[in-house]
Amino acid sequence: PMSEFLEKTPSSKEFMEEAATVMPGGVTANIKHFEPHPIVMKYAKGSSVTDVDDNKYIDYLMSYGSLVTGHGHEKIKRAINEQVEQDGTWLFGTPHHLEVEMGKRLQTYFPSMERLRYTNSGTEATLLSLRLAAAHTGKHKVAKFEGHYHGGYDQMLISVNPSVDEAGEAHAPNALPESKGMHNSHVQNTLILPFNDLKACEALLREQQDEIGAVMLEPVQGGIIPADATFMQGLREVTKELGIVLIFDEVKTGFRMGLGGAQTVYGVSPDLTTLGKAVGGGFPIGIVGGKKEIIMNSAPTAGADVFDSSQSKNTSAKDVLFHSGTYNGHPMILAAGMAVIDILEQEIGNVIEKTQRLKTGIDDLFHHYKVQGGTVGIGSIFSVVLTNKEKIQNYRDLQQTDLATRKEIDFRLLQKGIYTKPMSRYSVSTSHTEEDIDKTIMAFDQVLQEVFEGPR
Ligand code: PMP
Repeated sequence: PMSEFLEKTPSSKEFMEEAATVMPGGVTANIKHFEPHPIVMKYAKGSSVTDVDDNKYIDYLMSYGSLVTGHGHEKIKRAINEQVEQDGTWLFGTPHHLEVEMGKRLQTYFPSMERLRYTNSGTEATLLSLRLAAAHTGKHKVAKFEGHYHGGYDQMLISVNPSVDEAGEAHAPNALPESKGMHNSHVQNTLILPFNDLKACEALLREQQDEIGAVMLEPVQGGIIPADATFMQGLREVTKELGIVLIFDEVKTGFRMGLGGAQTVYGVSPDLTTLGKAVGGGFPIGIVGGKKEIIMNSAPTAGADVFDSSQSKNTSAKDVLFHSGTYNGHPMILAAGMAVIDILEQEIGNVIEKTQRLKTGIDDLFHHYKVQGGTVGIGSIFSVVLTNKEKIQNYRDLQQTDLATRKEIDFRLLQKGIYTKPMSRYSVSTSHTEEDIDKTIMAFDQVLQEVFEGPR
């Protein structure tokens, strides 16, 4: 499939050579790179993307899940235009009504968010949540799970994609830096926990309870490996008992497992929640929300839990948790976010059903071709794994699947007009049609036949 790939994408290759003279590796985010070269897109609408060689694909990358309503949705376009028409500008740098309107709508779906703040990305949201947890508990060490991603900053860029050879014992994983240039202190200040292993987590947390201020997790790792219900419940109980802030990073799951995220599906209430991606419908956004007593640490008037200008005289920097950002609560992005909620209120159930139909179609084909594996995931995100394991429980299980064959399947799917970045997840949007789903199942049928029964 690699020679066909190269034959079909000469202009992408040419573009990347030029791009590399401007940006390291030709990319602005390393995740956009893949071998032999990325496919460069020039147009997208609804569920389809077109590359610079005029190849058209059904898009399942959907910009890493953020485009839950697909490309160029008319309602979102209209919402943004109307906002600018109405307000005259796109940025006030002052409080404005959309911050409150959007916030109230989010609170109806996430009742655990008694107060919230906006940021410009998921990364900033998880970063702020850690400072809130440290301010609340006075404990600065953080626990996270092996294989979970929360953003590219030093404290959390640990054991996201570690080599299993170096990762140590399954019940007490090593903390491994994920980047050059990181200070060793971050490795020492981050405890790595094994996902879905409550007993091991509890033991590690008890041992370090005086230092650990927060446990952060993706309730569904990478949007595809769900926490077991008993694991979630147990983690909630033990963190509560030990005075540790429990943070659900719902940047992926937020608007993709239903409008109330994983916490609604599990019926488990975290202390803090972070949102991003789909909430902005493709525009940069992040949100941190949670328990009033924790998040009020960032109030500009220290100690006040209501708006109270009379107290501000006594406030000094050490009494207030610093949180700022020129673009926080950007009106155009919130206008887009409100439109996303409008659309999902009508269509989220349908997106999840479509995803289920696609997954079932793919799983049936694996069965038909007698290949061990199939889809993993819940809500509107899934991945395809080749494994004889009954259940994928954590990062190590995922690493031990047949990644080479998965890669071959992905490259063959590209030839049939099905796009996700090779080895990436599939995200379904409101714009995917029933016909798209049928075409995708057909493409999988041809590809699995080619891979497992030889060329036709
Ligand atoms: N948390 C999770 C669970 C994510 O999936 C991501 C993005 N992949 C982030 C945080 C970081 O979000 P952003 O890319 O918007 O900074």
